[in-house]
Amino acid sequence: MINNDERVVFFDVDGTLLDTSDFAETARKAAIGLMVDNGLPLDKDEAYGVLKTIIREKGSNYGKHFNVLTQVVLGHEDPMLVALGMITYHNVKMALLRPFPDTIDTLIYLKSQGYRLAVISNGITIKQWEKLVRLNVHSFFDAVITSEEVGKDKPNRLIYDVALRKMNGNPEKSVMIGNKFKEDALGAVNAGMSAILVNSDITEDDRDYIKQEKLDIAIVENIGDVNTIL
Ligand SMILES: [Mg+2]
Repeated sequence: MINNDERVVFFDVDGTLLDTSDFAETARKAAIGLMVDNGLPLDKDEAYGVLKTIIREKGSNYGKHFNVLTQVVLGHEDPMLVALGMITYHNVKMALLRPFPDTIDTLIYLKSQGYRLAVISNGITIKQWEKLVRLNVHSFFDAVITSEEVGKDKPNRLIYDVALRKMNGNPEKSVMIGNKFKEDALGAVNAGMSAILVNSDITEDDRDYIKQEKLDIAIVENIGDVNTIL
């Protein structure tokens, strides 16, 4: 049976489907630890500080943080240390990758209600699919639309327009679920959709703004509460 429902629920990935709280930091520290143990000539705190600066400058989606780290510290790239750092980072991150407790129940519930599901994410398309596959939730989703593909980050309206077009969704009947007020909620509302914020650290000012402007944004504690709205 083909589902042509024009109601699409779009999800953000990191911090929404996936509990990413401090796992990047843990993975980076593990990588640095091994690089220092194998000859990177700094102490671990110093090296972690240098790495953080590189990440701030290059952005978190840049693929060569450890290459730059060895260049900065040694004056040249050290392929062995880069490989050690990358593998350790990747393995620790993957070991810690987990969905929020109610993620899978909520996806099953939404499918049972006839919604089609897709992802809108600021990130790299294959990396985001990789997370969905590793969590074993990839089969719930018809598409993953990323800033890499569209060329614009959330909250830019273009990424939402492209996602709606790709999914053949009706914006008035579609919803964006995410953890960031600006990127996920405001971006979606600007594209004519409604939004649900989960796990958000939304400020009082932003809550007031939602009320003042009568924005179609609901705020719930966890992804498990989405079924009180949809
Ligand atoms: Mg997020």
